[in-house]
Amino acid sequence: MLSGYRGRIAPTPTGLLHLGHAATFWTAFQRAREAGGTLVYRTENLDPRRCKPEFADAAMEDLRWLGLSWDEGPVEQSGRRTFYREAWRQLKEAGFLYPCTRSRKDVAEASLAPHEEEPVFPLEWRTPTTEAENFSVPGGVNWRFRVPEGELLSFVDGAVGRVARTGQKDFGDFLVWNREDVPAYELAVVVDDLAMGITEVVRGEDLLTSTARQLLLYRALGAEPPRFYHCPLVRDADGRRLAKRDAALSLRALREAGWRPGEVRSGKREFSGG
Ligand code: GLU
Repeated sequence: MLSGYRGRIAPTPTGLLHLGHAATFWTAFQRAREAGGTLVYRTENLDPRRCKPEFADAAMEDLRWLGLSWDEGPVEQSGRRTFYREAWRQLKEAGFLYPCTRSRKDVAEASLAPHEEEPVFPLEWRTPTTEAENFSVPGGVNWRFRVPEGELLSFVDGAVGRVARTGQKDFGDFLVWNREDVPAYELAVVVDDLAMGITEVVRGEDLLTSTARQLLLYRALGAEPPRFYHCPLVRDADGRRLAKRDAALSLRALREAGWRPGEVRSGKREFSGG
């Protein structure tokens, strides 16, 4: 008998998976298994310029080699655009969104301090939501979500404990759809986690602020959020978090260098970081 627990792993196929992904996805797999639940595999391949089918195939192969298995999927986000479009329409009609002609570059240039996270979108650049009325489809312009100023968004994370972020301080009006007609990560993930009945989201700590944004989306869509469990990030020998550009630490490279799945899962072998 399966329990009601439903988890997911959701790689983005823009490169090879590395040790950090292995640790997070292994945790997601273990938590679903310990709960006697279901694990869904979702390929987050919405951005046609950055995502490649060969990386989607490589991710599945590497995860199987690692010892992971899943019960449903792979579900590809690229085949689910009508659902994101419907959520966009619902949010737009309820007055949560506005069309925006400012680019990411504009926002980066307007920010005074260097940010590790995305800089806060300047409030004075908001356009009135009435401008949204002229649009029946989202493409051609960026769409942003109006984040309430000063609202405290907090949740109790299964791994990290209490997390709190403040609207317009820790993050500003965020993208839900871009001018190249690609639904943004925040929107697609919320729509999918709801549609797939996910009860616990396991992912990396780099997405804690995204979770605060997503809480606003759940509320705007009139839905209850799932539970969250954010895993610590794996860092290299210099303390930097791993990125897909660190090819030497990809699962593929480690496997070719003779690492065994158990060693990758525990991160037990010393790696040089080179
Ligand atoms: N697709 C994201 C990634 O590869 C994960 C998104 C999520 O788990 O919400 O980092």
